Amino acid sequence: MSTAFFPRQIEIGPTCLEQLGEVASNLGGTHLLIVIDAFLVSSPYSYDEKIKNIAKQHQLEVTFFSDYRGEPTTDHLSAALNKMKGTGADCVVAIGGGSAIDLAKAVSLFALNPNIQWQEIASQTRLKRLPLIAVPTTAGTGSEATKVMVITDSQTQYKMNPGHRDLIPDAAILDPELSCSLPKQFTAYTGMDALTHAIEAYVSTNATAITDSYALLAISKIANALPKVYENGMDLEAREEMLMASCYAGIAFSNASTNLAHAAGRPLGARFNIPHGLSVSLLLPFVMEFSLKAAEERFGDIAENLGIQEVESRSKLAESAVKHVNELNEHFDIWKDGLKYIDLVDLEESIPVLVKDALSGNGITTNRKVPDSRDVKDLYLSLINK
Ligand code: NAD
Repeated sequence: MSTAFFPRQIEIGPTCLEQLGEVASNLGGTHLLIVIDAFLVSSPYSYDEKIKNIAKQHQLEVTFFSDYRGEPTTDHLSAALNKMKGTGADCVVAIGGGSAIDLAKAVSLFALNPNIQWQEIASQTRLKRLPLIAVPTTAGTGSEATKVMVITDSQTQYKMNPGHRDLIPDAAILDPELSCSLPKQFTAYTGMDALTHAIEAYVSTNATAITDSYALLAISKIANALPKVYENGMDLEAREEMLMASCYAGIAFSNASTNLAHAAGRPLGARFNIPHGLSVSLLLPFVMEFSLKAAEERFGDIAENLGIQEVESRSKLAESAVKHVNELNEHFDIWKDGLKYIDLVDLEESIPVLVKDALSGNGITTNRKVPDSRDVKDLYLSLINK
């Protein structure tokens, strides 16, 4: 037996942002708190004006919050809750990448549960929160379809990532027009993040027939569309395919799990302030190589969905998946960009702390080959020896 949880409504297609008013009204919203990436309210994008017009057509009030930079922290959450106070906002809308969506998830939860402790969230039977709509403008995290929110503790710099099925947004609006302005390198990092989700979900020990279907579909869509959007960010069809793939990968990992690339990528990202997608994709090929023999059949399926055909044996096919992901990392300058963030001497000195944080996070025990501290240390050393 297996169970899976999904958002209740998914809208997809160019201009489907127009559906926001109706979707929010159907959820009982009258006043929307819009957590929106600052880039999208700057000229020439001015999505705030567009959203005000959509809201007006449905007699909805709006309050905007875009006073955050980078990935969300507990300080950003306090600022958003302060902004919301006294407005009467009764529905939260995220418009942005995973950072905006995760911040909006936290706002929708803490608005109704101001005293809940972070470590209690995952173990609650049910969680009450405000209605929540996610409009992703990156195609990577899949947060619009996941039960997870990643918020950094401003005091300790630890990336908390509690998961609960009631954190899955009520509705996701996937409008490819909003992702066309995503710069080339963020297109690559976030796209590789989605690929990491799909691959990790497929080889997770928690994978089910449901998550397998979404994971493999996501892999084949990313293999087709990511090189296209990397070359031409205005390719609307490929942007739509990437949004769908990222959402599918989110459904897959939210119901299975991510594994070692995420467990080790989170502390690496926090230590060197690396964009999330870059930190996990740097580690992905090494993690695949580490787990290869424990899930050879599954890595063979991944290779096929990446579009690899001509290979003499099943084990060579599995190996070719690792080679292909390495080639994608080269093509998207992932290695070169990683070195802009990571000081290798500092990395070597930080390894004991990174290993400890990686082993204490989610995704270790669901890796097909469960790593010990020596394995995780070797994983970080692979980056130094690359
Ligand atoms: P992001 O939201 O941090 O955005 C990355 C950059 O792209 C930012 O500078 C942002 O301003 C810019 N940007 C976003 N959309 C844009 C657009 N359309 N045009 C131009 N610029 C745009 O990046 P992300 O990778 O989507 O999210 C990362 C966060 O999500 C991390 O905190 C990560 O830990 C978290 N995450 C969450 C989940 C989940 O299930 N909740 C899963 C994976 C990652």
